[in-house]
Amino acid sequence: MAGKYVYFFGEGKAEGNAGMKNLLGGKGANLAEMTNLGIRVPAGFTITTEVCTFYQNEKKYPDGLEKQVEENIAKIEKAMNARFGDSIDPLLVSVRSGARVSMPGMMDTVLNLGLNDETVKGLARKAEDERFAYDCYRRFIQMYGDVVMGIKPAENERDPFDLMIEEKRKERGVKQDTELAASDWQDVIVKFKRLIQDRAGKSFPENPIDQLWGAIGAVFESWNNKRAIEYRRINNISGDWGTAVNVQSMVYGNMGENSATGVAFTRDPATGEKKFFGEFLPNAQGEDVVAGIRTPQPINKQDKKDPSVISLEEMMPDVFSELVDVYHKLEDHYKEMQDIEFTIQQGKLYLLQTRTGKRTAQAAVRIAVEMAQEGLIDKKTAVARVMPEQLDMLLHPMIDPKARVNILAKGLPASPGAASGKIVFSAEDAVAEKEKNPKAKVVLVRWETSPEDIAGMNVAEGILTAHGGLTSHAAVVARGMGKPCVAGCGALEIDYGKQEMKVAGKTFKRGDEITIDGSTGAVIAGIAPTVQPEVGGMFGTLLEWGDEIAKLYVRANADTPKDAEAARKFGAKGIGLCRTEHMFFGEDRIKAMREMILADSMEDKKRALAKVLPYQKQDFIGIFKAMEGLPVTIRLFDPPLHEFLPQTDDAISGLAKEMGIPVEKIAARARTMHEANPMLGHRGCRLGITNPEITEMQARAIMEAACELTKQGAKVIPEIMVPLVTMLSEFNNQKKLIVKVAEETQKKYGVKVEYTVGTMIETPRAALVADEIAKEADFFSFGTNDMTQMTFGFSRDDAERFLPYYIDKGIINANPFMILDESGVGQLVKIGTERGRKTKPGLKVGICGEHGGEPSSVKFCHKIGMNYVSCSPFRVPIARLALAHAALEES
Ligand code: ADP
Ligand code: MG
Ligand code: MG
Repeated sequence: MAGKYVYFFGEGKAEGNAGMKNLLGGKGANLAEMTNLGIRVPAGFTITTEVCTFYQNEKKYPDGLEKQVEENIAKIEKAMNARFGDSIDPLLVSVRSGARVSMPGMMDTVLNLGLNDETVKGLARKAEDERFAYDCYRRFIQMYGDVVMGIKPAENERDPFDLMIEEKRKERGVKQDTELAASDWQDVIVKFKRLIQDRAGKSFPENPIDQLWGAIGAVFESWNNKRAIEYRRINNISGDWGTAVNVQSMVYGNMGENSATGVAFTRDPATGEKKFFGEFLPNAQGEDVVAGIRTPQPINKQDKKDPSVISLEEMMPDVFSELVDVYHKLEDHYKEMQDIEFTIQQGKLYLLQTRTGKRTAQAAVRIAVEMAQEGLIDKKTAVARVMPEQLDMLLHPMIDPKARVNILAKGLPASPGAASGKIVFSAEDAVAEKEKNPKAKVVLVRWETSPEDIAGMNVAEGILTAHGGLTSHAAVVARGMGKPCVAGCGALEIDYGKQEMKVAGKTFKRGDEITIDGSTGAVIAGIAPTVQPEVGGMFGTLLEWGDEIAKLYVRANADTPKDAEAARKFGAKGIGLCRTEHMFFGEDRIKAMREMILADSMEDKKRALAKVLPYQKQDFIGIFKAMEGLPVTIRLFDPPLHEFLPQTDDAISGLAKEMGIPVEKIAARARTMHEANPMLGHRGCRLGITNPEITEMQARAIMEAACELTKQGAKVIPEIMVPLVTMLSEFNNQKKLIVKVAEETQKKYGVKVEYTVGTMIETPRAALVADEIAKEADFFSFGTNDMTQMTFGFSRDDAERFLPYYIDKGIINANPFMILDESGVGQLVKIGTERGRKTKPGLKVGICGEHGGEPSSVKFCHKIGMNYVSCSPFRVPIARLALAHAALEES
């Protein structure tokens, strides 16, 4: 471990910089960077994350740390012209945690550290304001008592410190804390200290050096508290990283009406609009803004909703314009949207934090595209800035604008998207509901949220709070999680005790259904109807830039003209899987199918199938039209035949009556066709081989549709796909039938169609003998859904019953069905591709399992050199972006 544990920043120079996040944490690295940029930052120092790791392992500090801390305190003293622990000119500091990535759940910041019964007098004299000094002191004791000495309210108890303040207000007959005088705070301070003595069994430390080491130790300890561990688990953050500690000289936003504290974003984090956006509180300190104790005011005049509220722009125009300069400077420097914290002390602006701002998916897209258009970043960077999974949010349904919904109230639109579900009033209940039923949908309704609620927020569809602004905990965390959130809905009267809320004269109990619209702030009774979104504008632009980078292209899995059209709008370049099952199940068709199954002679069988043909032909015409000019892969008949026969006695006798055949005959057929495991039975090409008439009928329907459209001048590219092949001879058997019909049909219509015959590689054996199969197959498409089940030995339905236990016991940490990689089914896909291409170097290879829409699997497909991935229409944009990322990551 290096001998340097402490890095100083102040007086326009810093020892660290933004590139040192691993060592200094995000906060420390950026404080150093801002200092070097010439932005006014209160002087301070950062203790490295290495010290945290050392402390976790050794339960002590490395030798030399104490001395370095003392030396750096001396440097702050010099910069601030004040002395730590001095009764005349006391230096006060904040102690702030800061990991590599911002991490709620870590120790809360302690402000005003260094105050005691002596130094407080010095502060009062220096500030010429006794009230201010004792206000700082009581805040410090309360924070220190809470976060360092661990004095937390018991269950069902209100915060004991807050209760004491409330008592004092009552006693003095005032409403606001700001109306309490210095002498009132002096009383409160005595009570606070007594409370600490009673509850912690030791007294509040008066010595500032003891205070400092107490706070530093608490930051390191908090790295392993429950909240922090939970957050790391959800976000895949390593426990080895450790946190840094920042000790920074205090600046006071609570020094009267020309002082303030605030938070701001350089662009709107909800919409991405390029405008400075933020909130502030005059005469306030630190977390007052985020905590929602008072309602914050807008920084910009244009953001005022209520004319009686004063914006910072109006209140302190000079500071405002300085702030605007800082925000330009930061964006030009970081070339990213920044989220900043600032404090104004008696008209002087200080920056206390900057970091990459969290944003909604919508904002991410807009900011990336606009920054590229502004020339701040290039197109590749813009594409890299938006995460494929994030797009999911933009592809989620929105509340149907035409629907007439019952809007109960409006809160702040804190994180966009619509969410519906049953009301729960606690994070624990949200988690419990999900455990009872993984498909349950809940909306978490809270007065406000705190880091303890993370697990519940994670499982909820959306979050609704009665309190807090756009920078409240609920809003920030929901945006980070990509979940809809309506915050600060003041009209809600929540009663946790009764487990109900009142709004708009109605009472909603736990379990009642509501909808929230995080785009408008609306709270709606019941489940609101939704509509599907579209890809256009900036979203479309970003995806086009991505397509220029990507090496593979995206098709869609679509069975109907409607799905095909939707897929095309999302940028699909063809259909990778058109299942034909539904073409047998329509009302008239299933009748014909049953006739076929029950037929005794080949003639009857063919007659029955001939009834299905015109229907299927029409279906194919519709799909080919929707995909004109693009390839359409059609999978031939796949399911086991028993699915077409009724299963229960009643249904069997009903059908017997209807068709005029004996009950026993149907029952017997159903018995012989019964599959113990329908996934592995008599189906796919095995059915096509035993019932060649089915393959012929489908080939004819496809080719007649294709020929007819070709004759009309349309370009049709059918790719006929044989399912469930395990050996070359199976494939050859089917291919022969298909080619025969195809040639006949083309001759009959007098046209040529560019058709191919390939296979779905979905059994493990097919992958292993892919070199053989490639001799005759024109293309491969990996059916990784069935392949996953056959490789693992259990089906998705089976898995639902035990995967939660596996995840809980740490046997696996993600659903193995969803990811294609070197560790499992991915190997078969890779082997199949390699062996197939060994026989036929130019073999077209794609994937049509659900993995085709899952970003990490898509990247795997890129890596092994497939031609395309195919996924459900609504995941096409995600796959497009994932392919662009795959190409970027490679270069
Ligand atoms: P968090 O990570 O929760 O934002 P911070 O360490 O950033 O914690 O601090 C919490 C609040 O205290 C913020 O509003 C911050 O601006 C304020 N703060 C931190 N240090 C100082 C300081 N030295 N002077 C004034 N305010 C501070
Ligand atoms: Mg905090
Ligand atoms: Mg902060």
